[in-house]
Amino acid sequence: MINRQRLVDEFVSLVGIDSLSKKERKMADYLLQKLKDMGFKPYEDDTGKNIGGDAGNVICRVKGSKERPALLLMAHMDTVVPGLDKKAVIDGDIIRSDGSTILGSDDASGIAIILETIKSLKEDNMEHGDIYIAFTVCEEGGLLGAKNLDLSKLPVDFAVILDEGGPIGTAAVKAPYYNRFKVTFKGKAAHAGIEPEKGISAIMMAAKAMASMPHFGRIDDESTSNIGIIHGGEARNIVCDACTIEGEVRSIEKDRIDSLTNEILEHFKKTAEEMGGTTRIEVETEYPGFIIDENAPIIELLKKASETSGIPLNLVSTGGGSDTNIINDAGIPAVNISVGMEKVHSTEEYVRISDMEKACHFLTAIIKAAYSYNY
Ligand SMILES: [Zn+2]
Repeated sequence: MINRQRLVDEFVSLVGIDSLSKKERKMADYLLQKLKDMGFKPYEDDTGKNIGGDAGNVICRVKGSKERPALLLMAHMDTVVPGLDKKAVIDGDIIRSDGSTILGSDDASGIAIILETIKSLKEDNMEHGDIYIAFTVCEEGGLLGAKNLDLSKLPVDFAVILDEGGPIGTAAVKAPYYNRFKVTFKGKAAHAGIEPEKGISAIMMAAKAMASMPHFGRIDDESTSNIGIIHGGEARNIVCDACTIEGEVRSIEKDRIDSLTNEILEHFKKTAEEMGGTTRIEVETEYPGFIIDENAPIIELLKKASETSGIPLNLVSTGGGSDTNIINDAGIPAVNISVGMEKVHSTEEYVRISDMEKACHFLTAIIKAAYSYNY
């Protein structure tokens, strides 16, 4: 049986542990001990060393019937800032922070729900297939834990990531590709008062290029772009010779993101050249997108779980990236299900206890559906 009080106590303990990206040591130690106490043999991989963090991913196998489909359950250990000295404040059904930090239900809810579901399943001697748990590091800092996860050691058929918002029963089955770019506009320096005509302002070049961008903000239902950082100039009296902007493009379809990114970057280059300047362009795909077909087996599992639990299924397309993108890209069908977190990445973040409890029931139903799935 899902134990509401035990779930809340676990969540509150997790919130109390500092676990910023690349500084997940305390959280990893806590979870390694917790899983040992539950009778498992968890281990930590060497991701910490590879990414310059102080902890690796925490991985654990919950042995089940080998004849049945195996599941990977994932949640991330790290949080965004301000995330030090977090305190969970319980107010009826709602848990929030004291207002000075985030709460970190992104993704402590996911961890607490996985732990409670596994405890309850063991107590009830529920039949299940092999379950692998991966608590990842540095999701918020570029999905680095998932990128470094050795999936060859995790022989699974399906993955369920617990790191989404929305009503319980929500599952993200589409997420965008993500390209980031950095463009340095190069002009020519000159004294701004004595001979400005000899200079070429990189700031004006960047300004003109951005003001006339072919795509910005919401492009279509499944595509967005943004410029988030701008740097340039040394002094008021110097015509600026270098100005750097950093931005991103997201889109669900590979062809679409490639053409949008090219159009934007070509526009920057052309604008700079028209003004007598040049550009240095760096562009990188930070993570790939994914689209799960509505007839895919993993969707069948979700539909079955929804039927048996009575929790309505809500398949959505998300604009954000998560560990789910990386797992899908590696060839393991993965969905990201809601843990009830609200207003994440803000000090107003909160989660409902009843939602976390419901998510435990939904996850239990998914595990049962996987056990009875014929593949
Ligand atoms: Zn998250």
